Amino acid sequence: MNEVDGEETAELQAFREEFHTWLEGHNLGPVGAGFGRSDVEVAKAWQAQLYDAGFSALPPDKAAVVAEELNTVDVFLGTFMVGVSMAAPTIVAHGTDAQKERFLPPLYRGEEIWCQLFSEPGAGSDLAGLACRADRDGDEWVINGQKVWTSGAQNSDWGILLTRTDWDQPKHRGITYFLFPMRQAGVDIRPLKQITGAAHFNEVFLTDARVPHENILGELNGGWAVAMTTLANERTAIGGGAGRGSSIFDDLVALARQHGRAGDPVIRQALSDVYTRTQLLRYLGQRGGAAAMVLKLSYAQHIKALNELALAIEGPAGTLTGSWQDAFLGAPAIRIAGGSDEVQRNILGERVLGLPTEPRPDKTAPFRDLPR
Ligand SMILES: Cc1cc2nc3c(=O)[nH]c(=O)nc-3n(C[C@H](O)[C@H](O)[C@H](O)COP(=O)(O)OP(=O)(O)OC[C@H]3O[C@@H](n4cnc5c(N)ncnc54)[C@H](O)[C@@H]3O)c2cc1C
Repeated sequence: MNEVDGEETAELQAFREEFHTWLEGHNLGPVGAGFGRSDVEVAKAWQAQLYDAGFSALPPDKAAVVAEELNTVDVFLGTFMVGVSMAAPTIVAHGTDAQKERFLPPLYRGEEIWCQLFSEPGAGSDLAGLACRADRDGDEWVINGQKVWTSGAQNSDWGILLTRTDWDQPKHRGITYFLFPMRQAGVDIRPLKQITGAAHFNEVFLTDARVPHENILGELNGGWAVAMTTLANERTAIGGGAGRGSSIFDDLVALARQHGRAGDPVIRQALSDVYTRTQLLRYLGQRGGAAAMVLKLSYAQHIKALNELALAIEGPAGTLTGSWQDAFLGAPAIRIAGGSDEVQRNILGERVLGLPTEPRPDKTAPFRDLPR
């Protein structure tokens, strides 16, 4: 980004034009945000051709341009978000050469879908409180426990899995990160229905499931540091959805015209607010560091405001079902997924502003002695 006027660099603009031109000749049709089989199959075809043309595995600024341009033709490739935006950068940062060679090409090409097996019924904001266990058995580890809110588990071939491997260490130190094969006996996936009616995420019960020792990512008992890489990338990926706001804004204007509200000063004021925030988030998305933390928090609030405006424009028709209603009902989830708003504020306060940390009396005791 050009820091002076906030416009795209010439390089990024040239990339956008190149991708735009390519897109005109390679449109495979729309892909929704759902996790249904038909969406997944079309999404896989899209991802494969993006990879083959060199438009997958890009740095964040170019990846954001690709996502924005795809959105203009109603293509949403969220199926690969955990793989491409979270597992891949973590494997790049912490993986062995053999792991990179085995996992990255099919991941970027969309041949293998990934999910995130982090949260548990007793471990969400306090992720280091996780209790899913891994016990060594020769060259393998045996996994027992329950994960929850696992987005897209029903379509996944692999999971990034956090387990407890040493119960005598303090909670952050006895965790190991695995690249875990989902398609095996001992993995029981049960859908959880959301307010939108869709079952985007799942409970995942792991009973004597197995994973090879060579699939540990990073160090044995050193999984917390590896997980931090994933979570930082997750925040950026969720906030990076802000780029899609440009075409959503155009849709909102069209909606206002369609309902005869485009001349209403209150609606116009709200539209200009949405436009301003859309641009701010877009430029924020092109920066790194602390901006990434602000991005996820601001994006969640933006999506909420944007969908409330859509329903206000529709008036009584806003009570009927449709894509704006789905987005409205889905918006609160963005404030929770990838770390809740409150937790993002804690992180910002402590790590960016340098405020005193929350009291954490359970940080040094062995995990097995903690009340759970
Ligand atoms: C749409 C969606 C998709 C998801 N997909 C996945 C996935 O694929 N894989 C996965 O592993 N997880 C996934 N999650 C889980 C998500 O990471 C957790 O829901 C989130 O981290 C919050 O944890 P929790 O639900 O256990 O809530 P809790 O941690 O129990 O929090 C409950 C409330 O307490 C507040 N709170 C907790 N601690 C503090 C604190 N220290 N200070 C202030 N307030 C606090 C929270 O903000 C929240 O309001 C998903 C969640 C959603 C909504």
